[in-house]
Amino acid sequence: MKKLYILFLLPIAATAQPAIDLVYPPEGHRLPAVASSFIYGSVTPGSVLSANGRRVEVEPNGAFMAQIPFDEGDFVIKLEAANEKGKSVLERKVSVARARTLIPTGMSKILSGSISPNRPLSLGPGERLYVSFKGTPGLKASFRVGTGHGRVMAEQPSAVDRDEKLDAFDTDGAPQAQMLPGIYVGSTSFPQDGSWLNEKIYCCLIDSLGNEYLDSTGPIISSWPTEEQTVAVITDSFAVLKTWPDLGYEIFPPSGIKVVVNGEDGEYYRIRLSGDKEAWIKKSSLRILEPGQTLAPAKVALARVEQKASRAEIRITLSRPVIFRIEPGGDGQHLRIWLYGARADMDWIRQPESGYVNNISWSQPQSEAVVLDIALQKPFWGYRAEYNNNVLILAVRPWPKINPKRPFQNLRIAIDAGHSPDNGAVGPLRTLEKDVNWQTAQRLGQKLRTLGAQVYYTREGDEAVGIYQRPRRAVQWQADILVSIHHNASPDGAHPLEHSGFSTYYYHPHSRMLAASVHQEFRRRLRLPDHGFFYGNLVLCREPYMPSFLVEPAFIIVPKQEALIRSEWFQDRVAQAIVAGMKRFLTEGKIEPMEEIPLEASESP
Ligand SMILES: [Zn+2]
Repeated sequence: MKKLYILFLLPIAATAQPAIDLVYPPEGHRLPAVASSFIYGSVTPGSVLSANGRRVEVEPNGAFMAQIPFDEGDFVIKLEAANEKGKSVLERKVSVARARTLIPTGMSKILSGSISPNRPLSLGPGERLYVSFKGTPGLKASFRVGTGHGRVMAEQPSAVDRDEKLDAFDTDGAPQAQMLPGIYVGSTSFPQDGSWLNEKIYCCLIDSLGNEYLDSTGPIISSWPTEEQTVAVITDSFAVLKTWPDLGYEIFPPSGIKVVVNGEDGEYYRIRLSGDKEAWIKKSSLRILEPGQTLAPAKVALARVEQKASRAEIRITLSRPVIFRIEPGGDGQHLRIWLYGARADMDWIRQPESGYVNNISWSQPQSEAVVLDIALQKPFWGYRAEYNNNVLILAVRPWPKINPKRPFQNLRIAIDAGHSPDNGAVGPLRTLEKDVNWQTAQRLGQKLRTLGAQVYYTREGDEAVGIYQRPRRAVQWQADILVSIHHNASPDGAHPLEHSGFSTYYYHPHSRMLAASVHQEFRRRLRLPDHGFFYGNLVLCREPYMPSFLVEPAFIIVPKQEALIRSEWFQDRVAQAIVAGMKRFLTEGKIEPMEEIPLEASESP
């Protein structure tokens, strides 16, 4: 049978022209404003390949990656492959965004659509409104809101908007900020009489001959009504409080908590936490309650400490749930809880005479913020706070008892194989990230089990599990460690052929040592470039109940690394490194400074 097949197949293979599979970018892909970016895919092994006329190196397995120049607007990637059987051509149409540059020289005008803000904005009396637009450099500019007074604007060169991800992905260090001229900035304050109602912003540019160029937004600016409180309830269990619309994630509030809203900016509402501490939340995460609702400060009445077998529980009773934030102390032995919109009424704190919690003290540093300081006997392993009705329960876990000879004995380790149902990144040979994540996760799990650990997978095989569900499953299972396994890809405009390799990510300070220890083992064992050790705002790293970290052992989109990732040898190496890093963390609890580890040769084995 076998022979027959070969006889039957060979003539077909012999007459076939080279096949070309351009995996990335896909047809119709829109790239940001980049001058060059990467493409990858595969061809019939042994073919000679060019991309837009430039020769591209093809791996023995047929995979290729190239960095090619792109032009603005519609762009065609033309691949030509040839072997002794013939030639094939593949054309892929994509588009590239126009660079956010300024007006061509010699023209005087305000760049259309450049006035900011250009979204509904409503703030209270006396608050500052910042206005900017882009226009011809070197002229005079002003703006006004509705029929109000004109305000002079000044030209303030500003750093070019750059995709910050690229700064993290291209490891040369932050590039020199390129400063753009022609950005005009001004400000005024919201009127005390609350008189702005759906006003437009008008901007004016005047050239040296006195010619005026005008542009305006639609009606967007209003004064936030302040006589009554606007009360809302958080309805989204994955709500995020941000430092500014679309900027940093700061607090992850539970749903069901009532808050006072006092401003809006585009898709966001502003909520007041205490004093001048405020935060921004997506409008879709809230429901505004009917007018007339009020929200007086909550009372923080009573705290008690209960010593359980594996943790201490600090129970704080409030008159209603409020937004809280937990700050771990730098020594790992202190926790500070901020309770916003609350006043202390703490005459009693029931404390155990002895136990894991040494002391709890309180203060009221702001008129509507209560702070509880919790001193622990020994460094904590993890913590987690949750409301049970109006009682905030903070569970704090001390380090588990570890036998230095068998450090993994009975340790509960949750392994998260990234992605599924989505594929994650796709390699040049169409290797799916979710598959190699799962293969590597299983190898790690097998090793840990032979060392005595209990292993739990946040997903089994092709099971579809949402990203927020995963850390939750690890908590429900009472995991001691959570590790998430991924394989990396680069954003458009990056240079993966020059910048790639392994990287490790953590979020909480108490996870840093574990993550760093694993990262060091990658350095020792993977023989790939060190792509970096990162603080990362990642869902899989944000659960504070156990030390957690995420690894990207290699770039699945880089042909040589994709070949490695698919190999048993490499998957085994990665699992070994993670086990060794965990072991060092468990037995030594500390690691030597990262600088002391010599870098190995950075080529593939
Ligand atoms: Zn991934």
